[in-house]
Amino acid sequence: MTQISQIDTFGIDHIGIVGAGCAGLCLATHLSASRQKYVTVFDDDAPRPDHVWSFWSGDETCLETARAQSLGSWQNWGIHTHNANAFMRGEHYQYHAVSSSVYEEALRASLERASNTAFYKARVTHLSGESQHINIHTDDQKKHPCTQVFDSATYTAPDDTMLQHFAGFYVRTSAPAFDPQTATLMDFRVSQDKGIHFMYVLPLAPDYALVESTVFSHTPCAVGWYEQQMRSYLHNVLDVEHFNIEKTEWGVIPLAFLSGPEDPKAVGIGLSGQALRASSGYAFAQIHQQVAGISLQEKNPKPSAGASRFERWMDKIFLRVLARMPEKAPDMFLRLAQTLSGDEFAQFMNGHCPWRVRLKVISAMPKAPFLQALV
Ligand SMILES: Cc1cc2nc3c(=O)[nH]c(=O)nc-3n(C[C@H](O)[C@H](O)[C@H](O)COP(=O)(O)OP(=O)(O)OC[C@H]3O[C@@H](n4cnc5c(N)ncnc54)[C@H](O)[C@@H]3O)c2cc1C
Repeated sequence: MTQISQIDTFGIDHIGIVGAGCAGLCLATHLSASRQKYVTVFDDDAPRPDHVWSFWSGDETCLETARAQSLGSWQNWGIHTHNANAFMRGEHYQYHAVSSSVYEEALRASLERASNTAFYKARVTHLSGESQHINIHTDDQKKHPCTQVFDSATYTAPDDTMLQHFAGFYVRTSAPAFDPQTATLMDFRVSQDKGIHFMYVLPLAPDYALVESTVFSHTPCAVGWYEQQMRSYLHNVLDVEHFNIEKTEWGVIPLAFLSGPEDPKAVGIGLSGQALRASSGYAFAQIHQQVAGISLQEKNPKPSAGASRFERWMDKIFLRVLARMPEKAPDMFLRLAQTLSGDEFAQFMNGHCPWRVRLKVISAMPKAPFLQALV
């Protein structure tokens, strides 16, 4: 392991990246392409539990490595309620899922081969200095001089934030039970007692799927609750009699506009750089787009958020409607799926979509709740 302060890199920019999560590793990969940059990624490398990162992608170069690592890819996806089913088919876009640990490991392995990149195992405590002469301080009492700092580790959500909390179960059934061609984004035919609740199903084979019980509410549930929900969904909705749980995953994602680093010496990226889509919890594709947009030449880059200003406003109103009228959620998501084509849906979820798509989204929403949410 190399410390940047030990490297003789006259005339070379020293870039410090705080956090070796998705955003930190993606940015390090992007910057290490420049011979004029020396990049150090700081993280204490505490174990990060494996989970799936799902995303829509067409042929974007920035998502090429992720697409190549996909556990599964789907051209069709659906949303189900007690009243109706909506299926969408992507022509240009597909829905993909990667294992977070496999993907992070792939990025790390390629960075470890790069001669201008290093990992430093410690927590960053604070920054000192000023523009172009910044010191990164770590909890081993070391100081690391940098010309520029990107921070992916400092983000906070407002106190009253609605959470997306879930537990996922990789289930192996004794007989074929899933259609591997079609992912289920949301199936609302489950209990709505704990909040806005749906099942998310990624069919990896006819007899193997990730089934996630996902809730939008302010309080995560007890662990056993999600499993119970998943079991009754498999029995009652999918008619599955016998299955084994081979692996589990869980998580909590804030559905909010997060604030990033307060220190102006650091440029926020990833969740610290507003990449998270507040109304859906998606950030993976957004992080890749954000990082790809960071110019290697620019001294003061301003990474683009995961959605345009107008889409962020739409997300805010949408979240307000969900919070005030959670019982409307199944119908609203269904309407969205019925109105948009698969590609339009993917573009809207990924952010920075064409105006035509934004207007279609607005036209799909029930007018009264949204007008009330404007005030
Ligand atoms: C369980 C889960 C599932 C998700 N699934 C999806 C999905 O399917 N699709 C999607 O689009 N989005 C998903 N998201 C949202 C988003 O893509 C992820 O949160 C993503 O990991 C964000 O990456 P990041 O690098 O911005 O932040 P983080 O992953 O939080 O990375 C921050 C890093 O900083 C490190 N760190 C923290 N403090 C310090 C410090 N003081 N010094 C040094 N390092 C520090 C941490 O150890 C961590 O490695 C999911 C989120 C979660 C939590």
